[in-house]
Amino acid sequence: MPVNLLDFDMDGLVAWFATMGEKPFRARQVMRWVHREGCADFAQMTDVAKSLRARLERDAAIVAPQPIRDAISTDGTRKWLLDVGNRNAVEAVFIPEARRGTLCISSQAGCALDCSFCSTGKQGFNRNLTAGEIVGQLWLANRLLGAVADPDGEGERVISNVVMMGMGEPLANFDNVVTALQVMLDDHAYGLSRRRVTVSTSGIVPAMDRLRDACPVALAVSLHAPNDGLRDKLVPINQKYPLKELLAACNRYLERAPRDFITFEYVMLEGVNDHDSHARELVAIAREVSCKYNLIPFNPFPNSGYRRSSPERIRRFSRILADAGIVTTTRKTRGDDVDAACGQLAGQVLDKTRRTAEGRPVVKITEERR
Ligand code: SAH
Ligand code: SF4
Repeated sequence: MPVNLLDFDMDGLVAWFATMGEKPFRARQVMRWVHREGCADFAQMTDVAKSLRARLERDAAIVAPQPIRDAISTDGTRKWLLDVGNRNAVEAVFIPEARRGTLCISSQAGCALDCSFCSTGKQGFNRNLTAGEIVGQLWLANRLLGAVADPDGEGERVISNVVMMGMGEPLANFDNVVTALQVMLDDHAYGLSRRRVTVSTSGIVPAMDRLRDACPVALAVSLHAPNDGLRDKLVPINQKYPLKELLAACNRYLERAPRDFITFEYVMLEGVNDHDSHARELVAIAREVSCKYNLIPFNPFPNSGYRRSSPERIRRFSRILADAGIVTTTRKTRGDDVDAACGQLAGQVLDKTRRTAEGRPVVKITEERR
């Protein structure tokens, strides 16, 4: 099996090259070709010694997950469904805005944490993505958007921000996620600033501490409920790491975070977590942790059992927070016509009634191929 170069961060590539007697600057050269130029062909790496190119042709490959479906919404949102083998698929979404372009990527095929309102959670867990499959989403999107980073660092980058808010819990796939993050941040690769790379977690407390030490990037925490009683139901990992511990971990994270606030995500579920009293409880939480709230109108999916709060309810809820001096944004629902909302597309091609012998969901990829 050839080695997939997308699996390496700089340290990893330097170490692998060292086993072949190659110097670290060779690793930097190849890293730039692969990530800055979006190159998949060793023959094009003209400043790399011919002998090394021949060796790479033989022992290495540059392999990203392949799109099964590529849909562009009328609002410019572009969504890919990506084949990760074994009838598994994950999603990546590009969201263009006036002053930035955000790529939302996945970290796992499925998710084991089973949040009650999440379509990915309902699909169950299949497997962790490799570092190459994670960073490969950025590599591929750059190529497909025709926007491989400018080698001089000039000009506009189409992808200026990456958020790990696609399928899966990033902190449950810690090592591969950190390797992928290192590549995103590396000046020889994508050179993104730590403030523009966001990990979203449902609140795996020990892994939040590890991320702080290994690779502190911007952090979003899926709060979704202002007290343990409700959060235990909506985000079951809360039973293991209750709010008090979660908020303490947020404060520890802030000691090293590139931003001086945590973004708390809060899905708006009609009649469940959207009362005025819940907003007032959130105000109390904001007194404990420096934070912003991002209200996410619930994205419905079949048999979810939930409804999206009305726009008036969301406005009123948001006003209570804003009146208390807390920065609060409401996520725009975008790309509805291409099912760009979290987990929706893969949810559609997953037949939840059919499971393999191991209990894995079956993805009907072939029916989606066009
Ligand atoms: N597992 C991580 C990151 C992926 S989910 C996490 O839970 O944080 C990205 C965000 O989308 C999370 O805040 C998640 O709770 C939210 N989300 C999941 N399903 C949703 C739905 N149906 N509608 C709106 N937001 C949803
Ligand atoms: Fe997993 Fe996040 Fe969905 Fe919860 S919300 S099931 S942690 S992907």
